[in-house]
Amino acid sequence: MSLLVLKFGGTSVGDVERIKNAAAKVEAEVRRGHKVAVVVSAMAGVTDQLIGYCRSVSPHHSPREHDAVVSTGEQITAGLMAMALQQRGLNARSWQGWQVPLMTDSTHSKARIMDVKAESLLKRIQDGEVGVMAGFQGIAGDGSVTTLGRGGSDTSAVALAVALKADRCDIYTDVDGVYTTDPRIDSKASKIPHISYEEMLEMASRGAKVLQTRSVEMAMRYHMPVQVLSTFANAVGSDLPGTLVTDGDDTMEENMVTGIAYTRDQAKVTLVKVADRPGVAAAVFGPLARAGVNIDMIVQTAGDNNTTDITFTISKNDLDRAKQVLETERANIHYDHISASSGVVKISLIGGGMRSHAGVAATMFETLADKKINIHAIETSEIVLGVLIAEEYTELALRALHTAYGLDAK
Ligand code: ASP
Ligand code: MG
Repeated sequence: MSLLVLKFGGTSVGDVERIKNAAAKVEAEVRRGHKVAVVVSAMAGVTDQLIGYCRSVSPHHSPREHDAVVSTGEQITAGLMAMALQQRGLNARSWQGWQVPLMTDSTHSKARIMDVKAESLLKRIQDGEVGVMAGFQGIAGDGSVTTLGRGGSDTSAVALAVALKADRCDIYTDVDGVYTTDPRIDSKASKIPHISYEEMLEMASRGAKVLQTRSVEMAMRYHMPVQVLSTFANAVGSDLPGTLVTDGDDTMEENMVTGIAYTRDQAKVTLVKVADRPGVAAAVFGPLARAGVNIDMIVQTAGDNNTTDITFTISKNDLDRAKQVLETERANIHYDHISASSGVVKISLIGGGMRSHAGVAATMFETLADKKINIHAIETSEIVLGVLIAEEYTELALRALHTAYGLDAK
């Protein structure tokens, strides 16, 4: 017997039929003898709709009232899920964030979880009741309802699993796991049965959108096993049909690359002929940071005549702001001109196996050279190798690399 947290995302509870389907999964786990807590998202599209209402009342509405409104999507699904479970003859009860309570700080719309006081909920679960918690929401010290940021129900689920000392947190979604690369781009992509937290964190933050990054960070910190699995397949979580995210181990290091992610909507900015002197990087990146522009990759090329070129990448959305900042700072930085382009993509190879294999980078560069794809910037860390290339080569590069690293489905 295990204690499990089952989380159902927006598409898994997208309408009443789907809520009933999810309830059947919960029942199957209960009948197998497991103790179960459920965490639900709002029905697909509802959170967007609620945010829309807030914006149309006032573009500058109060953050407190924003959360009062957008947290209601989850309130509805928690109640409906509890009813669907009762309909199946189970003991079930819904819990709003404040009823648990799931305590947060008071940063409305991106609140951080401080503590989940789950004693009452746990007691009822131990007595055989299914506790259904509304995801995404909590309560701040002053009694205001808060929300955790988009996709926050994943984090609610992991936090509850940690508080309940659950054996596993199963995240039911519309895909059946985490894939070696985007299956919409490469039909040879395959499901990864087992991935480490570190690898998952890199996959999630570099474009594989299956799990909210924060939820993976929390799972890693507390060593909570998380499984990503499909709501629409027949198997349930305890059959382990999905992708299991856990601490790394040696068996995972068979492949040097576990997955390939990509981040579109990147922009590349080059400051041409920057004065090559101490403090110049600070003069460039200090003002950008103060303007809230997130910098990703940075490349500085050795120049001549006491000048150098500095290239960096940012999100395409920040490009105008970045250019504006650099124009304003022109006199402090001393550069000849700015050259910027937005049609670039970052392709990242991710794998714990890179630690113990040589030649990962060489294979990547040879593969791209073979396809005549030019590399604009390179990034390396212990388990990641990223390159910036022209966006039009995304598909070509992904497929070629997927083959080169032996990831193609057999
Ligand atoms: N309903 C929220 C959202 O759409 C939270 C979640 O689904 O995880 O962002
Ligand atoms: Mg989600």
